[in-house]
Amino acid sequence: MNGGRIEWFVDMEAYQLNGKFWAKEIAFVKRDGSICHNFHIWAPRRLKNLAKGLTGQYQYKRHNLRWQFGEWAIHDVKTLIRLTIARQPIGVKGEEKCRYFEQWGLNVHSLDELPSLKTLNDYPNEHCEIRHGTCARQKCYELLNAYDCEFL
Ligand SMILES: [Zn+2]
Repeated sequence: MNGGRIEWFVDMEAYQLNGKFWAKEIAFVKRDGSICHNFHIWAPRRLKNLAKGLTGQYQYKRHNLRWQFGEWAIHDVKTLIRLTIARQPIGVKGEEKCRYFEQWGLNVHSLDELPSLKTLNDYPNEHCEIRHGTCARQKCYELLNAYDCEFL
């Protein structure tokens, strides 16, 4: 990890099917906590059968976001994040997620040295406005805090 220079924390909840992420929720939080954005993203209706298999059902149980739920198209979220974050360093936990956001042209730094997100639960109230399972917004705050504990 690079010693404390990360400017943003980014996380997502997704269906991971056929070796590909179908983002359902993406959140990003600025290091100083001044900016936090959270998007719920609809997945393509024509592929809804993908999510009906066992793997899809298992993943749905974890984040509790239905395949077609959401008010954003992934393309628009990508554009907005690229405009907001540009090349500022972002922290992402998880090798596959790192690759996903690298493909967006973001300046990704792996947070894999931080404790597992499953063990972090200091910000249960930093949940997004809908009550669902694992929340990307909360995880961004958990990562920010764990990162600052490591470097400050
Ligand atoms: Zn959420």
